[in-house]
Amino acid sequence: MTRCPRPQKIQAYVDRELTGTEAALIATHLHSCPHCGSIHDWLLLISQTLSGRPRPRAREDLLPLICQTVDSAPQVPRISCKRARALISPHLDGELNSTEQVLLWRHMFACEECYRELKQTEQITEALHRQTRPVPVSADLAVRIHDAIAADRAQ
Ligand SMILES: [Zn+2]
Ligand SMILES: [Zn+2]
Repeated sequence: MTRCPRPQKIQAYVDRELTGTEAALIATHLHSCPHCGSIHDWLLLISQTLSGRPRPRAREDLLPLICQTVDSAPQVPRISCKRARALISPHLDGELNSTEQVLLWRHMFACEECYRELKQTEQITEALHRQTRPVPVSADLAVRIHDAIAADRAQ
């Protein structure tokens, strides 16, 4: 396994700001490292929230708080696995406030088992939603639109 990247690096990856090689390295690492995987998932969730995709209650103050949490984790109290797991469903339903999100995230960062539980619950929830939801647009649609506009301007 390669060394863990800084959270800022993972954020750049989420924002598609990295070059091909660098992005590939990060992707490989995220795959093999549950801690960084959990950071990535949270940053992605937040960036989706902020970009106005269907996730309720955007909190723009959350990202700096999370980066700060990674750098100085002791500032955020630890919660028990029991409490963390009780927060998983409300989290997936978008019902947590930012404090609860950070508490949950802090736990996921440290606890591989609860993170696995979160991912499993997330998959089940998504599968259930998929049965009733209209067809979603592809995840890179915004990027392709952006690229198309940029190419158009360049002509
Ligand atoms: Zn890592
Ligand atoms: Zn736990």
